[in-house]
Amino acid sequence: MATDLRLPTDSIVMPDKDSFLNEENPFEAMMSRFDRAAQLLDLEPGLYKVLRHPEKQIIISIPVMMDSGEVEVFTGYRVLYNTSRGPAKGGIRFDMNVNLEEVKALAAWMTWKCAVVNLPFGGAKGGVICDPLKMSAGELERLTRRYTHGIMHTLGPDSDVPAPDVNTNERVMAWIMDTYSMHHRHTVTAVVTGKPVEMGGSLGRREATGRGCMIVIKEALKHLGMKLSGTSIAVQGFGNVGSIAAELLAKEGCAIRGISDRTGGYWNKGGIDIDAALKYVKQHKTLEHFPGGEPISNEELLTADVDVLLPAALENQITSKNAAKIQARIICEGANGPTTAGADSILDEKEIFVIPDILANAGGVTVSYFEWVQDRGGYFWSEDSVNERLTDIMRRSFADVLKLSLQHKVNMRTAAYMVSISRVATVHRLRGIYA
Ligand code: GLU
Repeated sequence: MATDLRLPTDSIVMPDKDSFLNEENPFEAMMSRFDRAAQLLDLEPGLYKVLRHPEKQIIISIPVMMDSGEVEVFTGYRVLYNTSRGPAKGGIRFDMNVNLEEVKALAAWMTWKCAVVNLPFGGAKGGVICDPLKMSAGELERLTRRYTHGIMHTLGPDSDVPAPDVNTNERVMAWIMDTYSMHHRHTVTAVVTGKPVEMGGSLGRREATGRGCMIVIKEALKHLGMKLSGTSIAVQGFGNVGSIAAELLAKEGCAIRGISDRTGGYWNKGGIDIDAALKYVKQHKTLEHFPGGEPISNEELLTADVDVLLPAALENQITSKNAAKIQARIICEGANGPTTAGADSILDEKEIFVIPDILANAGGVTVSYFEWVQDRGGYFWSEDSVNERLTDIMRRSFADVLKLSLQHKVNMRTAAYMVSISRVATVHRLRGIYA
């Protein structure tokens, strides 16, 4: 018999949904969505308490010998939010804005994300406060290896499997895999995903998040009775997610009217030539002075007259301050947490169809799962096979969330949280509480 985690005398006290203490605190943003879904699911108070707390939070100091000969000490984090469904899974970011609240939120999001696409993983996230753009390759390698050493006790194919995130890439994953393998005295490919294909990476992993966005945008257009060809799109962020999604959507016949990166935005009513933009970024590293469109501000891009807005940069871009001005019919959240909780109700009032981050950008971790499976089996799949399976999972997950959203008359975000929280909760009930 499964343990009953319901504590009859307890009750969930829900925060007032409009009283956000700090709209831009990502952990609070995550929790307010969690609370709403938990309430609709009538989650038992004991389990509610368990799921509001991260399982493990690691903070480490990382001394690094810089090229100058001086020693710098960086701060790094790894948070394992919940591992009831399987090994912790989630990326590592190198960024000056990294902080514990953010890493906690991102680790929780990974938990819900893995559950919404039904992967046998829990959720984690890591980060180091640093500015990788100002560091040499040697400094980054030493930082990565020492960080890996500092969190070594949690890492492992069965316990905690990192992946790339903001400002980390295949090369960083290769260093993590090597450091871990050296300590274990044999090669362990499945300890990290998003590796180079030559050393156990999966075909299609690099494109997977952008491809997943393209797949769910097509599903949303179908659901809303809008046609794909000629759909106008604005993409915020031209990194791994935004640029690939833009490229794939342009190939499907959509007009990518606006693109941007941290140096600025560009607008072309007739559609930006995405191949030219990709070439430009390869050459110049950023879109700065890109000649293929009129310069526009970040705010203009977000509020532009387009059918689909794809925020694929960082958190807190769509807020209670600019949400009312958004004109898009669909928002596909390629980034993690691009919309603050305070903006949700404004977008609802405007009847904007939001494909929430935990569903929209789950393509990356889905192919990470395929990579982990391939590494453990030692048998590698064709790119077509990876893409086909990814398409199946994204479509099925979109349908699961849409079904619940229509059934309960809630938006897609709340429905996605309901799907994932109920999957995590079911496993907790079955496992019970170890005492
Ligand atoms: N960093 C990506 C995300 O936020 C990928 C995580 C993974 O593949 O583990 O979804």
